[in-house]
Amino acid sequence: MAVNNKFRRTNERFGKTSSLKLPQQGHEAQNDEYGKEHKGVIECPECRNVHFEKGWHHSIWALNKHLKQEQKVARRELCRACKITRDHLFEGELLIAQWPEQHREELLNLIHNFGELAVKLNPQHRIITIAEVAPNSYKVATTENQLADRLGKKIKKAFNHVELHFSYSKEPYKVDRVHATFHHPSA
Ligand SMILES: [Zn+2]
Repeated sequence: MAVNNKFRRTNERFGKTSSLKLPQQGHEAQNDEYGKEHKGVIECPECRNVHFEKGWHHSIWALNKHLKQEQKVARRELCRACKITRDHLFEGELLIAQWPEQHREELLNLIHNFGELAVKLNPQHRIITIAEVAPNSYKVATTENQLADRLGKKIKKAFNHVELHFSYSKEPYKVDRVHATFHHPSA
């Protein structure tokens, strides 16, 4: 997961580009706080993910499969990914432009498959939305910045003529934006 950290360092810095509402505090801080004051298992009432000893699991059942001593849910609190989804405070955004109509299905399948695998590996790593924002232009929001980076690179690898551009904004909150533009070869 740390493989994309280099992009953070080399990214161009952009100013305020988001029209989304301001968070009360950085959601990274919230993430660090999650479960800090409470020992035992915390379950998200929305998605049933559980947090236990600094790690996330798909469910209490999935957690207990790995434990010798069975745990019970001690507390319920909305998880980070569900909070991000509710408040639209995603960390990663992939903007796909000029996508050829004939590859639409392939693109959407690739995005769906990528999202399914990501959430399998870490229940908090999610694609929040896939939206067609204009004809042949799509916007994908992810809970993690690395997810948007990785998805952009996957698309570039899968299709010819895709150019990637990475940008990073600090205000009003941290978000990585990946622009994937399809350059139609001149006939
Ligand atoms: Zn949740």
